[in-house]
Amino acid sequence: MKFCEKCGTYMQETKDGFVCRKCGNLVQASTANGTIATKKERPPAIYIVDSLEDESMTVSQVCPECGNGEASRWVSSVSGEHAGIRRERTIEHFRCTRCSHSWSKPS
Ligand SMILES: [Zn+2]
Ligand SMILES: [Zn+2]
Repeated sequence: MKFCEKCGTYMQETKDGFVCRKCGNLVQASTANGTIATKKERPPAIYIVDSLEDESMTVSQVCPECGNGEASRWVSSVSGEHAGIRRERTIEHFRCTRCSHSWSKPS
């Protein structure tokens, strides 16, 4: 139950917060009940350390999508954990110069 600060009319609760039907005053739900939901999320086990897409170059690689023989190639290193052992590996990325289909394979 909440009343409008401006005109004293009973405010209706919506998903956005409390709305005054008389003057249109809106009080956001987060400020209305004083709590902001904070959810702590676990970082993913695998994340890309750096992607060197700027240094991509064109190589002869057959696109599995359209059969084109040229693709731009770049390498990124990926850090991941497997069974508690931390390891880094590099992945080769390719993007077809004709259809822009991209794929990758561990190098
Ligand atoms: Zn009002
Ligand atoms: Zn292609």
